[in-house]
Amino acid sequence: MANVFLVGAGPGDPGMLTLRAKEIIETCDIMIYDYLANADFLKWCKPECEILYVGKKGGDHTLPQDKINDLIVEKARSGKVICRLKGGDPYVFGRGGEEGEELVEAGIDFEVVPGITAGVAAPAYAGIPVTHRDHTTSVCFITGHEDPTKTESGNNWEVYGQSNSTLVFYMGVGNLPMIAENLMKNGRPADTPVALVRWGTRCNQTSFVSTLENVADEARERDWKAPSIIVVGGVCGLHDKLAWFEKKPMLGQGVVVTRAREQASGLVKVLQGHGACVHEFPTISVEPLNDYSAVETAILQLARYQWVIFTSVNGVKFFWEQLAEIGLDSRIFCGMQVAAIGPATADEIRARGIEPDFVPEKYVAEHVVKGLLELEIQGADVLIPRAKVAREVLPRELKAAGCNVTVLPVYETKLVQASGDEIEASLEKGDIQYVTFTSSSTVENFFDLVSPDTLKQYPDVKIASIGPVTSETLSKFGFAADIEPEEYTIPGLVGALIKEAE
Ligand code: SAH
Repeated sequence: MANVFLVGAGPGDPGMLTLRAKEIIETCDIMIYDYLANADFLKWCKPECEILYVGKKGGDHTLPQDKINDLIVEKARSGKVICRLKGGDPYVFGRGGEEGEELVEAGIDFEVVPGITAGVAAPAYAGIPVTHRDHTTSVCFITGHEDPTKTESGNNWEVYGQSNSTLVFYMGVGNLPMIAENLMKNGRPADTPVALVRWGTRCNQTSFVSTLENVADEARERDWKAPSIIVVGGVCGLHDKLAWFEKKPMLGQGVVVTRAREQASGLVKVLQGHGACVHEFPTISVEPLNDYSAVETAILQLARYQWVIFTSVNGVKFFWEQLAEIGLDSRIFCGMQVAAIGPATADEIRARGIEPDFVPEKYVAEHVVKGLLELEIQGADVLIPRAKVAREVLPRELKAAGCNVTVLPVYETKLVQASGDEIEASLEKGDIQYVTFTSSSTVENFFDLVSPDTLKQYPDVKIASIGPVTSETLSKFGFAADIEPEEYTIPGLVGALIKEAE
């Protein structure tokens, strides 16, 4: 079996990576990657994977190509599994062919994992199908940046000028005036539509459509930069009609997510699905306890309780983990009432085969108590598995209502020892439009890492809070929530953000 893989990482959107590529990233021993490959993928590498950056950005080559080739061959000889990751497709203007030849000459087996090339994906995300029966019967992929040592152009401008093929130029921004000029000189009408798509498929994608005659001026006025795909042809006229991606309400909007990494993925995905550029800044981490003996004792005596109230998804997860530890399962709740503080917690319980007996209409502790009292919880023995440190309203009010309450810590949240430098730099660059807070502890920990005075320097940055309790904590730091949903849930928060962005 081959141990070297020339892998395409796709155009940038992490969802555009193939399953095969992901598999190789997850299992390789050595990762050799380029500038354009989305660096987020590296988080899938094994912890012991050796990660080598050999990227190129414009003229700034970290390693010249012959040294890259030598490096791949040298590493390949070790017999370790090597992932050579490149942006888009490795064989489309990626010099993958040259690297493959070197490997063959060195007698090393390799496999290719094709990727989605930017020349197809970036136009598609800008509403431009590269072929369309009304406009063209062919498409050409062309380099806009030829090998500078070549004396004659390999591009046959006459053919491109005469054909009605869609032309897709890679690496062409610097040569845009020359490209437009050559095409018009050779017969393409001056009003032929041209599209430029920058950072295609990513949340920071931008594009515009012009004509051969005007595109160079317009690009200069806009100070247009690489990496961009240039598309020439009638298909560019479909941009407005088919621009599904650029219509996303939060496209390009920078949103900070402060939730614990373990919990953030749902929120992050939904925001990204609406086009947002998410800055993950977990301020808390969810950790197991050092000692579970108290939990074990409580589980073994569970029959004492009439009600078990779960206040978080993590509470459910850690409780069931301990159940499994001692060889028990959901049947232990037989004859007992189970409550969830909100819909996500309720779903977590349902996933374990139990339909909660109570989920409040509003997802704050105060409403839970009201609803539970209507179910005549007064006087009952109640167990609340939850975080070690949490709000005391629920136990306090249930006690006041005459319940016999036992609070059972099943996990703890800790302040993440991170630095706020990256977020501060992004604020400074104007990359952040929203900061979201999903609990009081995210607020407190955030301001431990980024001072309130720093955030106050950016009055245009909007603060989004999941609900009134979190907003009250914000006010202690001198901030009023600009956005607070009517329903105090993650989907509610996302809905409110979209409404604000539209
Ligand atoms: N192998 C890559 C191309 C590498 S050449 C592929 O198949 O996509 C680098 C050029 O690709 C850039 O100069 C730019 O023209 C184009 N490119 C790569 N990613 C891009 C993106 N996300 N948006 C626009 N252009 C991109």
